[in-house]
Amino acid sequence: MAYQTINPYTDEIIKTYDNHDDAYVEEAIEKGHQLYKSWRDDPVESRAGLLYKLADIFEARADELAKVLTVDMGKRFVEAQGEVALCVAIARYYADHAADFLKPEPIQSEMGEAQVISRPTGVLLMVEPWNFPYYQIMRVFAPNYMAGNPMLLKHASNTPSSAVAFEKVVKEAGAPDGSLTNLFVDYDQVNRIIADDRVQGVALTGSERAGQLIAAEAGKNMKQSSLELGGSDPFIILDDADLSEIKKIIAGARLYNAGQVCTSSKRFIVTEKNYDKLVAMLKEAFSEVKLGDPMSGKTTLAPLSTKRAKENLTKQVRAAVEAGATLAFGSLEQNQPAAMFEPVILTNITKDNPAYYQEFFGPVGQIYKVKNEDEAVALANDSHYGLSGVLFAGDPEHGAEVAARIETGGVFVNSFGGTLPELPFGGVKNSGYGRELSHYGIDTFVNKQLIVTK
Ligand code: NAP
Repeated sequence: MAYQTINPYTDEIIKTYDNHDDAYVEEAIEKGHQLYKSWRDDPVESRAGLLYKLADIFEARADELAKVLTVDMGKRFVEAQGEVALCVAIARYYADHAADFLKPEPIQSEMGEAQVISRPTGVLLMVEPWNFPYYQIMRVFAPNYMAGNPMLLKHASNTPSSAVAFEKVVKEAGAPDGSLTNLFVDYDQVNRIIADDRVQGVALTGSERAGQLIAAEAGKNMKQSSLELGGSDPFIILDDADLSEIKKIIAGARLYNAGQVCTSSKRFIVTEKNYDKLVAMLKEAFSEVKLGDPMSGKTTLAPLSTKRAKENLTKQVRAAVEAGATLAFGSLEQNQPAAMFEPVILTNITKDNPAYYQEFFGPVGQIYKVKNEDEAVALANDSHYGLSGVLFAGDPEHGAEVAARIETGGVFVNSFGGTLPELPFGGVKNSGYGRELSHYGIDTFVNKQLIVTK
């Protein structure tokens, strides 16, 4: 595969990168391994300074770094600025809290003085997707840097410039050699990295297919893994929901980042009482969208990440309609240039329609009508995925009770959530396993070592 930046708005090839050979990979693993050994006995807080510095550089050069994201994968510049700000917050969060998260935990035991200490495990590989090119790296890098695990990065082949920019900032911040090495490698090289004795784990964010392959490779080699995969998140609207609040957020819930967010609301599940109003509301929101140049402040919907993503999504919509879904908004023809995709709404999707179980990774909203709350929960849970969800209810307490019946890693009641450093992120079912961010996120690749002293 070629590591190439192609501007999704102009279709211009900006830069092609050469792949790294095996000798480069070997050197990167060895540097990481030596660093792990030299870090092993240093206190966690000794590494905080680097993350503060990294955050400062991201903040000082926010616009320049944001532009790299927009050119790499097409997101709106304002959203790219938001992603940079989120990276700053994550770096500072782990610099502030990691030592506390990893402090020894005493355990009462008749065996003697027992405690669990957190030890680094060694070099890790992260395999990351293109939709939030910096944030995906930061949420693995920041906690593991603090924990003392050096990292190798295999980024998506369509966002190589973001990978290079991130690695450069880490170096500029003064991180020791081997802390984070970006690798332009193919899938066979990835498998060999996972198999290497010096590599102790792999964190993947990506598709179900990649999850299956990477987890199988990790399992075969008995390596720790975490998987953050796809989602077809429900947005449930109960009878007594405040529709005026929903109106404020509905477009963003589906269209932020051109709809290419694993936790964006993909299935709107509405009780009969509000169904017609919700369909009208979503149509109105989608009709107001301005698709165009992601660098322009007037644009509200960016292109998709690649022309291939556009072709695939167009095919998915067509197949859904051929199988009986109603095209309630938008067109089957996507005639805009390059990777631009106009929003679509699908209704009347029956269980035998392929769309029913699929993730639509772009500006396509599905709306389902249900009789009542129980049917809403059943439909939300009738999914291979279980990442996140949104639920609007007039009574927030009741909303939280219903939320607990939804089989996902998280549910936001009466708001469209998003991601923050202190909130755990991850899913169940085919959305993967493990949690990133928060205090949970730092535990994945540490050795919770028991020490008992008599
Ligand atoms: P993808 O094809 O799985 O790619 C993700 C990463 O995995 C890329 O770096 C890709 O490299 C690599 N990869 C894929 N197959 C591989 C293999 N066999 N061996 C080694 N590396 C492999 O994902 P995508 O379709 O581009 O991204 C969108 C998906 O990610 C969606 O399903 C979305 O929901 C999910 N996602 C999940 C989260 C979350 O936190 N849960 C967040 C964002 C996105 P190449 O680019 O070189 O193929």
